[in-house]
Amino acid sequence: MMALAKADRIARVAVIGGGVAGLAAAAALVPRGARVEVFEARRRLGGRAASFLDPISGRLIDHGQHVSMGCCTGLADLCRRAGATECFARHRRLHFVTPEGRCCDFSAVGWLPAPLHLVPGVLRLRFLRMSDRWRLLGTMRELARTGSRGVDSRETIGPWLRRRQRDQAIERFWSPVLISALGESLDRASVAAAAQVVREGFLASRRAHELAIPTVALAELFDQRLGAWLEGQGAVLRRGVRVARVEGDARRVAALVLADGTRRAFDAVVVAVPWWGIQRLLPAPMLAALPGVADAARLEPSPITAIHLWFDRPVWRLPHAVLLDGLGQWLFSPPDRARPDEHYAQVVISASRWLVGRDHDEVIGQVVRQISNLSGSGQTVHGSRPATLLRSRMVTERRAVFSVHPGVDALRPPQETALENLVLAGDWTATGWPATMEGAVRSGYRAAEAILRRPGLGGVS
Ligand SMILES: Cc1cc2nc3c(=O)[nH]c(=O)nc-3n(C[C@H](O)[C@H](O)[C@H](O)COP(=O)(O)OP(=O)(O)OC[C@H]3O[C@@H](n4cnc5c(N)ncnc54)[C@H](O)[C@@H]3O)c2cc1C
Repeated sequence: MMALAKADRIARVAVIGGGVAGLAAAAALVPRGARVEVFEARRRLGGRAASFLDPISGRLIDHGQHVSMGCCTGLADLCRRAGATECFARHRRLHFVTPEGRCCDFSAVGWLPAPLHLVPGVLRLRFLRMSDRWRLLGTMRELARTGSRGVDSRETIGPWLRRRQRDQAIERFWSPVLISALGESLDRASVAAAAQVVREGFLASRRAHELAIPTVALAELFDQRLGAWLEGQGAVLRRGVRVARVEGDARRVAALVLADGTRRAFDAVVVAVPWWGIQRLLPAPMLAALPGVADAARLEPSPITAIHLWFDRPVWRLPHAVLLDGLGQWLFSPPDRARPDEHYAQVVISASRWLVGRDHDEVIGQVVRQISNLSGSGQTVHGSRPATLLRSRMVTERRAVFSVHPGVDALRPPQETALENLVLAGDWTATGWPATMEGAVRSGYRAAEAILRRPGLGGVS
């Protein structure tokens, strides 16, 4: 957690948007004595980290399975504060599965310091040729060193990799790792964004690459657990209350006008809505003073598709799997998300813009065939009698994340603004991270820090 200045008086702070960024801002502000009110348009907190209630099982199912990593220290800090650390389970091994169902684990060794800790794991990736494994190590090191310096800032990671690795290494290692981490295809994602993943997510420390998978539905984590903790700290959470507009001028916010016409005044405001929703919230003079907001409106969305599958028996022993060479990229089988007579699995396809408009039954059929073909691997549990699909649902979130195309960082404004009492938060603001829960938490913490630095609000006067 970043060090926050101590508030010298009780400031009334409004947070517009109860997504992860808004909740993180609130979590950082309440212990500093701020009186925080969170306005969230939807009935549940959590924003895009959302769940729906499956009417058949009565269970909460995540719209899209979310995964964190060992390097996501901000999110881990937020969960620790709320006493919700056990809402994530750490997985030291990443399970890569070939189309024939052969499973190959990728893990670090504890006896080598970072960044050498991954060398034995990479050399054991049996689904790649040995020469590709060695080259992978060199490419990782080169990419981590690359950053934004010394590369053509307009170059995407696909061509950069193709100059260094054979197709198989790109398709079987780089694609699943980078597309899921960045939510973008290799031909659209920047070299800089890929370098950040390798630096932070693989090489920074011995446990950076570990997966942290939620053990509960996202709504339980963010709406129920974090929400209850915030209320316990004195925050007021207004679910289902949309802020219709912000009133004020180029200097400061005067008031918020809620959808029912109520006018409310606050000392400071954290605007934590998505990049596509902020412009219509702010008056023209305020927007003129916030050129970064107009820039952010040019961020391009990138979709993620989740395929929800309910079978008559368990289909997979492992909690997660990276599926190689197929349509479905990741398979998750979270427990307790189905009736006792059903077994739930979710297949995730990131950067899925090419699936938009495709026939759902056809896509689901293809994914189910992909999973069925994995049988016989020893990892599937349906053995000789394959599991029968009972029901399914395909959901594509068209604006799941913003595209990390080359030059994207120039469109991401900092949390601090030219206005006296308005700060920004959201995964789309400048954090150096792609659109993730971690980026959202970091933005919320920085927004809180910016408020507490303001004279009269946080003590630095
Ligand atoms: C399918 C899918 C899969 C994903 N997978 C992962 C993953 O595996 N790992 C990961 O880290 N990230 C993942 N993400 C990305 C992650 O969910 C987001 O980066 C993060 O949740 C963004 O949080 P946020 O608070 O910045 O924005 P949002 O979640 O968009 O929150 C903004 C909130 O503001 C509210 N709001 C908007 N306008 C108003 C208004 N006028 N008044 C009041 N409230 C308003 C919205 O209702 C919303 O709740 C995924 C996203 C999706 C959709």
